[in-house]
Amino acid sequence: MAALARSVLVTGSNRGIGLELVRQLAASPQAPQHIFATCRDPDGQELCLLSPTINLLKITINTVDLPSIRRAVQVVESCLEGQGLNLLVNNAGIGSHATLQSVDSQEMLAAFATNVVGPLQVAKEFLPLLEKAAKGAQTTRLSCSRAVIVNVSSKVGSIGLCLGVLEAPMYPYRASKAAQNMVTRCLAAELRDKGILCTAIHPGWVKTDMGTEQAPMTVERSVQGILAVLGSLSQETSGAFLDWEGNSLPW
Ligand code: NDP
Repeated sequence: MAALARSVLVTGSNRGIGLELVRQLAASPQAPQHIFATCRDPDGQELCLLSPTINLLKITINTVDLPSIRRAVQVVESCLEGQGLNLLVNNAGIGSHATLQSVDSQEMLAAFATNVVGPLQVAKEFLPLLEKAAKGAQTTRLSCSRAVIVNVSSKVGSIGLCLGVLEAPMYPYRASKAAQNMVTRCLAAELRDKGILCTAIHPGWVKTDMGTEQAPMTVERSVQGILAVLGSLSQETSGAFLDWEGNSLPW
């Protein structure tokens, strides 16, 4: 069985879903040749606990800090030695439980900066490397072995579902994930002809710092599902909003 992708970059990979993504990718018998585990503090404790492997490189990216993204692009480019980046996973995100009563502009803007501007900025800066991967691929079909941008989204950002607002108000989080979904759709439409597939994935409600201990699903199970979905992406799922089991969700 072939590797999911030759090269993968994950943002927010020092804990939660991002950490488990790089852990499972590195442990896979078909591990990518390059795994770029990026986060705000690559020397932090959690990422250091990952067993070092030759294909895993820890790099600083603060997704709301453009210079840090640009420095990372240079590091990644030099590691790839003329090849492109196959898979970009925009995983970094922040939550917010602000209600209609407690919400203020600062919390709204912070959620938009991290959950909308961050992924867009990261995609924009890594675009030349994604385009290089798309052009250099042996296939014309859209897939992770060519070039893919995955934005980790949330079901609570679905306008179509508008799930339980009173039980889980989260105004900044919901609105920012809905806006992130629009960014995904726009990228998918614009980049499809360049051979780059874009999709949004809801990881389920997962036991992480954000998901809390109350969540029904382990991070291991969620990431197994996400990786299986990534392996099945094709032209048909370009611009789709999928959950960790591959089910299609309404925008
Ligand atoms: P966690 O809170 O456990 O982890 C969030 C990660 O994002 C951390 O690594 C954090 O880094 C990073 N991050 C936040 N801001 C930035 C930034 N500016 N630059 C770089 N990294 C940043 O969350 P999860 O692992 O649960 O969530 C991952 C993704 O999954 C998010 O996009 C979230 O919205 C989504 N999601 C999660 C669900 C769940 O139930 N857990 C449900 C639906 C969606 P640091 O340690 O530096 O803060």
